Amino acid sequence: MAMTKKTSGKPKGGVKKPQAKPAKRDAASKKAPAKKVAKPAPKKAPQKEQQPKPVVAPRVRGVPQVLRGMKDVLPQEQRYWRSIKMAADELARAYGFEMIETPILEETSLFARSAGTQTDVVEKEMFSFIDKGGSNVTLRPEGTAPAVRAYIIHGMLNLPQPVKLYYIGPMFRHERPQHGRYRQHYQFGVEVFGDDNPVLDAEIIMLAHLFYKEIGVKSVVRINSLGCNDCRPAYREQLVNYFRMKRAQLCEDCKRRLAKNPLRLLDCKEEGCAALKEGAPQIVDSLDEKCKDHLMRVLEYLDDLQVPYALDPHLVRGFDYYTRTVFELVPEEGDGAQVALGGGGRYDSLVEQMGGRPTPACGFGLGLERAILQMKAQEIEPQPEKGPDVFVAQLGDSARRKAFVLFEDLRGAGIKLAGNFTKNSLKGQLETANRLGARYTAILGQQEVLDETVLIRDMESGMQEIVDYKKAVNALKKKLENG
Ligand code: AMP
Repeated sequence: MAMTKKTSGKPKGGVKKPQAKPAKRDAASKKAPAKKVAKPAPKKAPQKEQQPKPVVAPRVRGVPQVLRGMKDVLPQEQRYWRSIKMAADELARAYGFEMIETPILEETSLFARSAGTQTDVVEKEMFSFIDKGGSNVTLRPEGTAPAVRAYIIHGMLNLPQPVKLYYIGPMFRHERPQHGRYRQHYQFGVEVFGDDNPVLDAEIIMLAHLFYKEIGVKSVVRINSLGCNDCRPAYREQLVNYFRMKRAQLCEDCKRRLAKNPLRLLDCKEEGCAALKEGAPQIVDSLDEKCKDHLMRVLEYLDDLQVPYALDPHLVRGFDYYTRTVFELVPEEGDGAQVALGGGGRYDSLVEQMGGRPTPACGFGLGLERAILQMKAQEIEPQPEKGPDVFVAQLGDSARRKAFVLFEDLRGAGIKLAGNFTKNSLKGQLETANRLGARYTAILGQQEVLDETVLIRDMESGMQEIVDYKKAVNALKKKLENG
């Protein structure tokens, strides 16, 4: 192995002195404006990748467009997605949840039976169609009903309870697209089956809150109880009496809801209806002792866990299956305070309603696009990602062929790599290595091919070392092990 020295001129081996100045990276990162980061940055955070500016795609004639309300998630967005999916995964697993993946396409009746035929999602927003076999199918608008179906048909009732499941995946709703509202969106969801202990309601609420905390977004929980099948009918009657007196001021949808599903009136976003809701009776006054006690215990747990919450006596959710606890999360600060970051609740009757044995359950769904929008609005950087260990650079045809093989040898040795086999400029390749935060660059030029060597450049110090080609993998492994 050749001596280690600080490069000051043309390195032996025929490769010109690289022009890129990796040392600047540190200086630049020191001066970078203070930005919030999802988690404390590691000591040697690689320089924030210079993200290409977002390009507004021009409409290209004759090329099929992406469907309204749907979007491509481009490579420059992926660091946000990786960061939040990792947070979701780690949190869910830390609290004993197991991942479940259900099909995106389900029988339409699954959602009609679970969410309720009178809900906006089922009435107006489902992507439903008859498939080639004549079945009425639907792109899933939410994750709870498929999880319930899976729990029943796979006999999870026979497993030790509670069964704790989580998922991350796309949902489809034919809504009017707007900022933060898409026709395809992703949710991180959890479902807990088989126990009605209020500690589980508190656990999932805390998990939802923690997820946002983990990615750097402060959220507040709004919480309410919808009572149970015993105490809700009396409240329903009070509500009907109240709104019947104001019928003339209700929107057409709510006039219909008044007869069939009066609780939904509390969820109407029309200005007139929303204003009427303020004077409406509150369900907390109608809860029976058991439901009241359940709510109180959930709140006590949240107090213990210091999860910030506000009682919202008119909170109902978009699906009919909820009993007792319902909650939503909204951002603590900013214009988005009215935007739901996620929500969920308890659904103690749903498993039975879907054909299973009576099984209490609760869960939530958090909107991942909204999580990212909040991060961007609050200038929160995703958790810094470790750059490649080694960037493989090459110059000239024969060097490229050897570099290609070296790349595979290094990958096989478990080294995290980057490289570009089409570039002809060493300067450009070193700049890329630098931008990616590579620890070392392995350089192969014509001279290295002749000498059967590789030039290894420490990207932080600029020190270069010539090593035998055959020993390059081991030499790099050793360097990486030694930090
Ligand atoms: P929901 O099942 O309606 O309570 O939705 C759970 C969460 O998913 C919401 O609180 C939002 O964060 C997110 N979400 C729901 N619908 C959409 C949508 N159309 N576009 C983006 N995010 C959505």
